[in-house]
Amino acid sequence: MIGVALCANRTDLHRPPRSPIHTLMNEDVSYDLAVVGGGPAGLSAACLAGVAGLRTAFWPGPERAEDLRTTALMLPAIRLLNHIGVWGDQLESECAPLARLQIRDATGRRPAAPTVTFDATEIGQNEFGWNVPVAPLVEALRSRLQGCASVAVFEGGVSELDCSSETVLVRSEANLPIKTKVVIAADGQKSVCRKSAGISVTRWEYPQTAIVTSFAHSKPHENLSIEFHRKAGPLTTVPLPGDRSSLVWIETDEDAAELAALDDAAFARKLASETAKVFGQVSDITKRGRFHIAGSVARQFAKNRVLLVGETAHVIPPIGAQGLNLSLRDAALAVELIGEANAAGTDIGANTLMKAYDQRRRVDVFPRQLAIDVLNRTLISSFLPFQGARSLGLAALQAIGPLRRSIMQEGLAPKQGLPKVMEA
Ligand SMILES: Cc1cc2nc3c(=O)[nH]c(=O)nc-3n(C[C@H](O)[C@H](O)[C@H](O)COP(=O)(O)OP(=O)(O)OC[C@H]3O[C@@H](n4cnc5c(N)ncnc54)[C@H](O)[C@@H]3O)c2cc1C
Repeated sequence: MIGVALCANRTDLHRPPRSPIHTLMNEDVSYDLAVVGGGPAGLSAACLAGVAGLRTAFWPGPERAEDLRTTALMLPAIRLLNHIGVWGDQLESECAPLARLQIRDATGRRPAAPTVTFDATEIGQNEFGWNVPVAPLVEALRSRLQGCASVAVFEGGVSELDCSSETVLVRSEANLPIKTKVVIAADGQKSVCRKSAGISVTRWEYPQTAIVTSFAHSKPHENLSIEFHRKAGPLTTVPLPGDRSSLVWIETDEDAAELAALDDAAFARKLASETAKVFGQVSDITKRGRFHIAGSVARQFAKNRVLLVGETAHVIPPIGAQGLNLSLRDAALAVELIGEANAAGTDIGANTLMKAYDQRRRVDVFPRQLAIDVLNRTLISSFLPFQGARSLGLAALQAIGPLRRSIMQEGLAPKQGLPKVMEA
């Protein structure tokens, strides 16, 4: 029954059919696992479940608007993509390695902080990771999923979960309810799965907006990513193939609105000046996207047979490339714990599994979220002691090699260890 359902009801992720795809489904049909959310976190979780052979029902949800972002993915995340089988020539050709990361003080405040450069060779690597454009990443994950025989893809969004002590009933817009033992919820910041599981979320706003785009430059980037620390927030350039870089430019909400409205030539001039002309001539600005900066964290990362991954669990400002790296660690650990319980013949949605996931993800996410919050707030605050502390911290990082190396190691992998598929 399951085998027939899996083959007969697969939908093409690129062209979802208009009619409900699981018309033969009834409540007797059950899956081990449901994954909800077709962003990079949910797609990765679904692919990992497929590679592990778990009987999985997957709801990618509503069509996504074109994603203009790129994400700096560190080596453990690249290992995960490799394990799934999407890190091949095609995706790699659209990405660039990140060999060095630099922080430059562009606040104009005194005392000025020194420039700090992190070089991957200092920790025995050629690169820290790769800059990966989100649209081709999502595309590669979607096509990989088509080859996962144990994953059935359902169209339409999930409307509600009925969580009981034994199972979860997934109610969706286009199908009859589907029974499952556990749910990986990756349905984003306004998650319905999180709400159904009874998990509350704390959210806060920053008075900032990020403009994202990419640009060409006359001087080579030499695989260096630069974070210019400015009074309104960081402006980060990240290498792309050739003489191009992607940009995350954080400004006050008002200034970002003005920036977004500039024509390409005026935007390029302003960018060249804000980046102290380190890129030479700036040109060929691509389409610009805008993201309001906010933070959020769920009170529990797992409860009532529902594990939260990605922005369903935590939202972090785009500083220091944390968000998707953490999200992929969420997805990898969730599938690892479920796979292990499945292999041992124990309940894959048991409370003990929920607690183990919650504890392991909490110790990874919380300190990083706090560090980014403090860094961002000290940048935008004019309180003098904050500036002094920030400058001292950067001076220490520049001067003390072991401290710098330990920060680099921690940036690649948390001290508590990585999920198995991300280990070197
Ligand atoms: C400007 C910017 C730059 C960034 N740069 C980096 C970086 O360099 N490195 C890094 O690691 N991170 C970065 N991040 C963070 C990263 O982009 C996010 O962590 C990541 O995109 C989150 O992915 P997600 O899958 O959790 O969420 P989303 O991409 O929001 O996906 C949620 C999905 O759920 C679906 N959905 C919603 N409702 C339902 C429903 N009811 N049923 C089914 N599906 C549903 C939606 O359609 C969507 O596809 C950046 C973020 C920003 C804003």
